[in-house]
Amino acid sequence: MKFCGQLLKMTTQNAKPIQYYLNLSHDLINMNQLFGKKLKWKHVGFDCVACGGDERIFRMGFCKRCFYESPYASDTIIRPELSTAHLDIGDRDLEVEKAMQLHPHIVYLAYTGDVKVGVTRRSQIPTRWIDQGATFALPIAETDNRYEAGMIEVAMKEHLADKTNWRKMLEDDYEDDLDLADFREKVKEYFPDNFKNFYSHAHEMMRLDFPYEAPEKITSVSLDKNPEFEGVLRGIKGQYLSFDGGTFLNVRAHEGYVVELEI
Ligand SMILES: [Zn+2]
Repeated sequence: MKFCGQLLKMTTQNAKPIQYYLNLSHDLINMNQLFGKKLKWKHVGFDCVACGGDERIFRMGFCKRCFYESPYASDTIIRPELSTAHLDIGDRDLEVEKAMQLHPHIVYLAYTGDVKVGVTRRSQIPTRWIDQGATFALPIAETDNRYEAGMIEVAMKEHLADKTNWRKMLEDDYEDDLDLADFREKVKEYFPDNFKNFYSHAHEMMRLDFPYEAPEKITSVSLDKNPEFEGVLRGIKGQYLSFDGGTFLNVRAHEGYVVELEI
């Protein structure tokens, strides 16, 4: 079978194990069914997620122009503390920013090789954790908007990681007694004074069940360096497809790429 289309991040369904669907021009291909099968990839073009242009993808699925102009690639995506929609102040497009920022958000702890802190819209749970490859996760605050969650995260970042080390995430090595509730108690004191009312201990730690076993060695492949690449699919963690021999393809890093996939 041969498919061709624009790659987006995989759609997921939280099950035991998590179900993954490759998103190829909105055709959804269940990837769990393909474990043990050989997949052949070929990079044939670009398709910017905002303008649909075929210029080289710059970041996050956007061509360079859209990355600097689209409200969906605003700095507040990466740095929630810069959000201003709650003050009725726009950055690139106030209406879009209101729709993204003025919703309940969660500040959470996640284990992705290290304990890290992160922010997401409440409606993005557990999708956000699955995408990051978090084996364990626990909300520690619930806020009314993105700005408040961002301010708490900034304070937490002084004491915890906020980025995922992809190699550690894929090594999937953790202590059996890891308990994020212990960390929640420890970091409570770091909440900024005027945001302490958002602290929440109402949640229980969630464990995510990835269809994945860590290989001996871990190397990543990119379609920029290897426009044609094939491998037998072994498992999936986060947005990383794991192939035989310990080779990984980060699907999210290839959003907006047009690929041919032969199964
Ligand atoms: Zn574009």
